Amino acid sequence: MGTTAGTAHQMFVAGKWADAADGATLPVVEPATEDVLGTVPDAHPDDLDQAVTAAAEAGPEWAAAGWQRRAALLRELAARIAERAADLAVLDSRDSGNPISGMRYDMASTPSEILYYAGIAGEAKGFTSPTGPDTLAYTVRQPYGLVARIIPFNHPFKFAAGKIAAPLAAGNCVVLKPAEQTSLSAIELARMTEDLFPPGVLSVLTGRGERVGAALAGHPAVPRIAFTGSVPTGHAILTAAAPHIKHVTLELGGKNPIIVFPDVDPVAAARAAITAMNLARANGQSCGSCSRLFVHDDIRGPFLDALVAGVEELRVGDPLADDTDIGPLAFGRHYERVLSYVAAGRREGATLLTGGGRPAGRERGYFVEPTVFADVADEMTIAREEIFGPVMSVLGWRDVDDVVARANAVEYGLTANVWTRDISTAHRLSQRLDAGYVYVNGTGRRPTGTPFGGWKNSGLGKENCLEELLSYTREKTVAVTL
Ligand code: NAD
Repeated sequence: MGTTAGTAHQMFVAGKWADAADGATLPVVEPATEDVLGTVPDAHPDDLDQAVTAAAEAGPEWAAAGWQRRAALLRELAARIAERAADLAVLDSRDSGNPISGMRYDMASTPSEILYYAGIAGEAKGFTSPTGPDTLAYTVRQPYGLVARIIPFNHPFKFAAGKIAAPLAAGNCVVLKPAEQTSLSAIELARMTEDLFPPGVLSVLTGRGERVGAALAGHPAVPRIAFTGSVPTGHAILTAAAPHIKHVTLELGGKNPIIVFPDVDPVAAARAAITAMNLARANGQSCGSCSRLFVHDDIRGPFLDALVAGVEELRVGDPLADDTDIGPLAFGRHYERVLSYVAAGRREGATLLTGGGRPAGRERGYFVEPTVFADVADEMTIAREEIFGPVMSVLGWRDVDDVVARANAVEYGLTANVWTRDISTAHRLSQRLDAGYVYVNGTGRRPTGTPFGGWKNSGLGKENCLEELLSYTREKTVAVTL
């Protein structure tokens, strides 16, 4: 499946397998070896036009099919994914560099996301308003028709399959644009749904963000854009969408704080902080990675000892090996970027406690050791900017008001994590933190159905919940004079 060297993959446009209209391709590079495995199409705006036309043709029947029918098809998709989980995990691990254990977790959790939306599909409904005896007023929710789903590289299949469920359940067609670095499993998703959804309901367009991604964001016949990715791309999408007043939702980056109080077991908190970095799932390339660790001065020593010991236990290596915790970063440019942050940490005076470079014996591949900096000051680059790699920054604190202000003093507001045994402190801080999702004594795992989405520059709108389903519909009021 998809990983034979030299394969020229095609994309799925308007119910057919296709190359880019102008024949352009992009290389598929295996992050662990830097070998070129094949190519994917670099979709042309004309390919998008075809997908849009097919969706316009398929849309009315798809919307009229009813939520029960769409939910049944989504349940079938979930079953197919569960059946194919093992090979999909290998495909994503090889294509993205994420460890196979992490990709098995992705595949195990994706069907339940799809089943969640299949289960609530009938909730995209309206209500009646209280009126006088001579009027009946009610609302209906109607799909947009076509939704663009633009996704990043860090959880390739999980995002591809999980993020089409809500817009499809609500009765829309979808154009999915995977990240150019990790497109193979989205192509596989198209293959798995080819006989499931009517032609035109799902198109998968591979290619560069600045080409087909930008064309999607600005296309006048794509009224609804749901984007997951970086803040700069979020800005570009909002700008491209503005002339058409599109409905745009954005799931963007994070620079998420953990605030550790002195009343907790420092060893347990340090272990949790490692899990919350998503080191052993996506090599720390996670929007939810808690990369700013505010540790109370009174437990600094034991916390740092446990943190460094835990990080040094992580095995960096072949992403396909069962005992690997951390694989290579997803692509060369990103690898250089992460290392430039490590260099900035050193240059600006943080103390490097472990990691910081390429692991010994790894001459090829985009491998970076898991890295811990201590004595990090708020104004340092590594404390302010999202690194999106296996780099943790430990900062100290003494005063609660001060640490809350410091935790909030970045452009991001995706998640925050509070570690304390004092229930009042936990709830008070949860109110005061500028973040769309607060964990208390957590490790970054989220129960299904809980709204996720950032504040400030971390995003617009909520996903993984009923609000997401509703966001793929337009509300209409009908007022009837009796
Ligand atoms: P990115 O913004 O570079 O790319 C994401 C997607 O956008 C890709 O498919 C890319 O091709 C496309 N794109 C690029 N330029 C575009 C343009 N001008 N118009 C339209 N599409 C364009 O992000 P990335 O490097 O792939 O992913 C990392 C970022 O994603 C991090 O900032 C991370 O925090 C964020 N992220 C957020 C969440 C969340 O749920 N909040 C989840 C995962 C990742």
